[in-house]
Amino acid sequence: MTNRFIPYGRQTIDEDDIQAVIEVLKSDWLTTGPLVEKFEQAVADFVGAEYAVAVSSGTAALHAAMYAIGVGPGDEVIVPPMTFAATANAVVFQGGTPVFVDVEESTLLIDPEMVEAMITPCTKAIVAVDYAGQPCNYEALQKIADRHGLFLIADACHSIGGKYKECRCGGLADLTIFSFHPVKHITTGEGGMIVTDNVDFAEKMRRFRNHGIATDHRRRTENGTWYYEMVDIGYNYRITDFQCALGLSQLRKLPGWIVRRRDIAHCYDDAFAEISAVRPLDVSPDILHAYHLYVLRFNLVELRTTRTEIFSALVELRTTRTEIFSALREQGIGVNVHYIPVHLHPFYRERFGCRNGDCPVAETAYEQIISLPVFPAMADKDVSEVIRTVSRVVYEVPKV
Ligand SMILES: *Cc1c(COP(=O)(O)O)cnc(C)c1O
Repeated sequence: MTNRFIPYGRQTIDEDDIQAVIEVLKSDWLTTGPLVEKFEQAVADFVGAEYAVAVSSGTAALHAAMYAIGVGPGDEVIVPPMTFAATANAVVFQGGTPVFVDVEESTLLIDPEMVEAMITPCTKAIVAVDYAGQPCNYEALQKIADRHGLFLIADACHSIGGKYKECRCGGLADLTIFSFHPVKHITTGEGGMIVTDNVDFAEKMRRFRNHGIATDHRRRTENGTWYYEMVDIGYNYRITDFQCALGLSQLRKLPGWIVRRRDIAHCYDDAFAEISAVRPLDVSPDILHAYHLYVLRFNLVELRTTRTEIFSALVELRTTRTEIFSALREQGIGVNVHYIPVHLHPFYRERFGCRNGDCPVAETAYEQIISLPVFPAMADKDVSEVIRTVSRVVYEVPKV
């Protein structure tokens, strides 16, 4: 028996990351200094985009993107329900209306056919969420966006380093959002970034993160002037220089970390292919999956039948997702659930009249999914432990 707990995700911070941050703490610029631009350029180069704007969180990045394309009251933005609430919230921040469009059963990625069916004269943009780290069907989504004159936004908070047909996430949409929260691929503590090839969008978002002011403090200091103009309403969404030092240091390790995440996912794939009551999500052949999450679906009907056959009615059967979740947690596996479909949250029910049945595929999937631990520092023996425990929980007699 083991009493260790394996979390579902965890940051990796090495001595060189710490040193990089300490260097900045001793320098002149704690915020909006030279490392912000350096980090932006490094991410832009890595993903193959022209411009990058670093902000204080992935949520701020989504908000800035909605601002850049001019979302306002009366505008509809199509979003999938299988995402973190911030994807839809950013539309609401700007006074727009999120329109939830269901996902495909096999991948839980937004369904392009359903997207087209939900477009109205008020639709302004489509947000593609690369759920779990798998890039969406960008070819289909771009065609739809072009046909209807819509912006395509990629919420790539799960998929930095991923690819769709040899093109990296970051070069697949008008604007692409990344998050540097500790649970994501690389971290700055809190932090986010938007990448784009559109210079006007980049300029607008630089102002937006700095109260709507056209120049920043460092530029004014360098130019020996106090004068500035606030040209639109903005926020303080700035990221600090020491966070960007951490981000730069982390970015160097990203390629290796993605290899490790993919190795872990492939171990899981091989192991779970043997168990008919569980099923990983499908992976499209023309993408490179970045595996922010490893999501397993439980075939609860099959579990219920097998269990009844084997153990009769004498034992209590763990045949709901909640029971499986609790059993795994009790046995030291830090599983999680991604996500509660966003339209089912009380806010969206009350404000936008969303209801059960709006997105049936996402709602059914939600009852069946569990995210297993996957992070670069995860040891091989921990991967084996997760596989053993899942098999045990699925097939063995639960304690009564
Ligand atoms: C993490 C995440 C966000 C929000 O990022 P923060 O940095 O936590 O604000 C948005 N969308 C998705 C899909 C995410 O996973």
